[in-house]
Order: sequence, then C-alpha cells, then structure tokens
Amino acid sequence: MTRRDSILREIGLAPLWRLRNKPVAKVAAPAEALQLPPAMPAEDERARRIAAMGWDELRTAVAECRDCRLCEQRKQAVLGVGDAVADWLFVGEGPGAEEDERGEPFVGQAGRLLDAMLAAIDLQRGRKVYIGNVVKCRPPGNRTPEPEETAACSPYLQRQIELIRPKLIVALGKPAAETLLNAEVKVGAARGRLFDYRGIPLIVTYHPAYLLRNLPDKAKAWEDLCFARRTLQGLNDVGG
Ligand code: URA
Ligand code: SF4
Repeated sequence: MTRRDSILREIGLAPLWRLRNKPVAKVAAPAEALQLPPAMPAEDERARRIAAMGWDELRTAVAECRDCRLCEQRKQAVLGVGDAVADWLFVGEGPGAEEDERGEPFVGQAGRLLDAMLAAIDLQRGRKVYIGNVVKCRPPGNRTPEPEETAACSPYLQRQIELIRPKLIVALGKPAAETLLNAEVKVGAARGRLFDYRGIPLIVTYHPAYLLRNLPDKAKAWEDLCFARRTLQGLNDVGG
C-alpha cells in the first residue's frame, strides 16, 4: 500500500477512490473489445466475396482460382455456357478432357447426348438454357470430385444460380444432386420427384455419361425430361 493510499484510507476516501476507478477500468476493456469486428473465417470471407460478384468478376475469379487442388492439372477452368438469365439450368459433375481443352461444358460424347436430350424437349444450349457443373476444373482421369473440392467450388455455383435465376434446375447425376440438395441422393429413387433448391424447383435425372453406359435407362431420362418440361409449363401457366 502506498503512502497516498494509507492517507486516503485514513480520511475514509480509499473505498471511494477504488470504486470510482476500478469499475471504469473494468467497463472500458470489454467495450473496446466489442467494437472490434469478430474475426471472420477465411472461407466465409471468400464466400461473401463470391456472393457479391457479377458475371465478369465470376468469370475472372474462376479462371484464376486456385482454391482446391483441381487447379493443378486443369488446362483451364470451365465456368458454364448459356444465357446469363435462363429458364432452365442443367448441372453436371465436372469438365472432362474435351471440356478442359475447349473451355465449354458438355462438348464431348456425354455432351452430344445432352444436346440430343435437350433437342428432344425443344431446348438448345444458350436458348433460355444454361449448362454448368459442380466443379469448374477437370478432376484428373474424370474421377468423381472429392467432398472438399465440391465444397470449395460450391460458392461459384451458388452465385451462378443467383445470377441465372432459373425457373427449374435439372441435376444430372448423383454428385450434382447431392451437392445442390446437400443430402445423400440415389438417382433411381429421386427421379420423378420435385425437390427444392432455395425456392427453385429441382429435378434429378441420370447423368448423360451414365446413360451412354446404360442405354436402357435412356427411356427413364426421357421420362424425367418430360416431367421437367411439364413442371416448367405448369409454373409458366401460374404466371411464373
Ligand atoms: N460431364 C460433366 O459432368 N460435365 C461436363 O461438362 C462434361 C461431362
Ligand atoms: Fe477453384 Fe473450383 Fe477449380 Fe477448385 S474446381 S480450383 S474451387 S474453380
């Protein structure tokens, strides 16, 4: 105890002095701490940045992206193709060799089948249609993307969907369906049902590459596309 303290105590002011000062010091520290913004995890910060992008920024960001290891072996990232605002959105898994080469989704063998499927319901890429993928960079050897790759790339797809504002989403195959619905999906069981992606109707069907290996299921994919067309027609009839 200092001499000053003992004098103050003697004249009965010590407790006051302590009361006046201690609480001030106590209150000041938390108030200052509260004014600091909470530290934002890097991935939240990245997702927020992507969520604010327009098409040009998105195209540049994806072209330059190195946020998962799929960047290591790609020739180029493949953002997607079609109308900036479209009624239909088809989502595949990831670019294959030809897509990686040419920078456009579904331009290989599976793509030719997809184009034929679209034509069967009077659709064409780029005419009220947008085609994209869950991951923008080719998985080596066309393997299925790993969950961390899908997670890293998802904010881009999310932003694409916000910009495209599709009336209907068609998930092509299991990885697209599982990514968009954030759940385990069996395509065979999910077909013919109407799902919801943030308020947008979503339909699941087989991936064209699967159909190339399982030709009898083509008839089912055709049914699914007819269901999709009827669904969109219904939405348009109620003024969508
Ligand atoms: N398979 C896909 O899932 N996407 C493509 O772009 C090509 C093949
Ligand atoms: Fe980036 Fe997606 Fe390519 Fe990964 S796959 S490097 S997250 S653009």
